[in-house]
Amino acid sequence: MNRKILLDEKEMPTQWYNIVADMHNKPLPPLHPGTKQPLGPADLAPLFPMGLIEQEVSAERYIDIPQEVQDIYKIWRPSPLFRATGLEKLLDAPVKIYYKYEGQSPSGSHKPNTAVAQAYYNKKEGVKRITTETGAGQWGTALSFACAQFGIECDVYMVRISYDQKPYRKVMMNTFGANVYASPSDRTQAGRDILAKDPHSTGSLGIAISEAVELAAQDEHTKYALGSVLNHVLMHQTIIGQEAEKQLEYAGDFPDVIIAPLGGGSNLAGLAFPFLKHKLQGTKKDLRCVAVEPASCPKLTKGKFMYDFGDTAGYTPLLPMYTLGHNFKPAAIHAGGLRYHGASVLCSQLLKDEVLEAVAIQQLECFEAGVKFAKAEGIIAAPEATHAIAQVIREAEQAKKEGKQKTILFNLCGHGFVDMMAYQDYFAGKLSDHSFTDEELTHALGEIDALQP
Ligand SMILES: *Cc1c(COP(=O)(O)O)cnc(C)c1O
Repeated sequence: MNRKILLDEKEMPTQWYNIVADMHNKPLPPLHPGTKQPLGPADLAPLFPMGLIEQEVSAERYIDIPQEVQDIYKIWRPSPLFRATGLEKLLDAPVKIYYKYEGQSPSGSHKPNTAVAQAYYNKKEGVKRITTETGAGQWGTALSFACAQFGIECDVYMVRISYDQKPYRKVMMNTFGANVYASPSDRTQAGRDILAKDPHSTGSLGIAISEAVELAAQDEHTKYALGSVLNHVLMHQTIIGQEAEKQLEYAGDFPDVIIAPLGGGSNLAGLAFPFLKHKLQGTKKDLRCVAVEPASCPKLTKGKFMYDFGDTAGYTPLLPMYTLGHNFKPAAIHAGGLRYHGASVLCSQLLKDEVLEAVAIQQLECFEAGVKFAKAEGIIAAPEATHAIAQVIREAEQAKKEGKQKTILFNLCGHGFVDMMAYQDYFAGKLSDHSFTDEELTHALGEIDALQP
């Protein structure tokens, strides 16, 4: 039995998979917040290049990956698929565990799969600068790298708490040539408004998005890029699952359950959608897919399926999604990539249609799982990715209890080498589990009632 299954560069997929083609219920349209009418491509043009807008609204099953993008992908792709023999031994359960490892990319996570594609389409349409937000710093690093490849300027608004907790992420972005600003900043109206109310705001992804969008909307040569949530972003990630399917074919296997952490849904979509194609087409009806979210930001398990803004200030279109309300303030957990109030439209619709399942896990259980995994497999996972590992362990224990064989595939979507502060805090006993009151949630959801069409 091979411990890792590798593909040759020649075997790298040359198309992205668009799950919209196979969805039974198509995603509801984004709405203009003023008119509550469906958005047209022209409404998005100030923020995104047309090449990406076309992908955003496409229902084509496969879209070609441009040759230039493929060439850059080859720096780290195809990525390895590992059989987790060390973890299997430790768990002593009737399970086979495989994981796709995206930590070998330039930024250390799956994010460059879409960053490179987005930079390419911006460059093709003459864009000079891209603004974006970053939480944990993973997306900002990925986009900084991608912009460096195409000679585009990159301005990153980094959530204040991560800016302070993860100084090396900032230096990585600077190394790739990007400008990095702590958010909320005084460079935008959205940032100044927040600081006026709360001078010590630790920021949030929603606030940082507002800042980046505001600046892109003001300048015709500047566009905005989002690291998750949008349909085209999820589609760019599907190269992960297409590779994994080939690799599992070589191993003579197919998963019973696919597990991934969910912030907006892009790494989950990337790994799972090419497999869910078979479920939607009716050939693998029993395939399960579990999205794992932090208990401190549980939009899938405690949120509501409603129209909501993607950001805090309310600059983005209204998206139909599972949300906690755009003013919900998640606790300052270390898994910064999962601290987002909503889930992507595609993942939300699939959860509503019971194609996906969701579970929320507290951070202490996740770090415990991450430490077990590091000892058994030799890879220190990003705090986000430990959420998937915790669920893998739960699934294995369940299989043991039931005496049932199970094949598990999960996304080790990033390494934690720049997150050692989080592990240090965990070892020092400084981390705790978080909850919030029903009143907080009811209040945050009540605020978006008026946004519904
Ligand atoms: C960004 C990020 C996430 C969360 O975003 P998704 O779009 O849900 O994938 C999870 N893990 C890592 C390592 C990330 O960088």
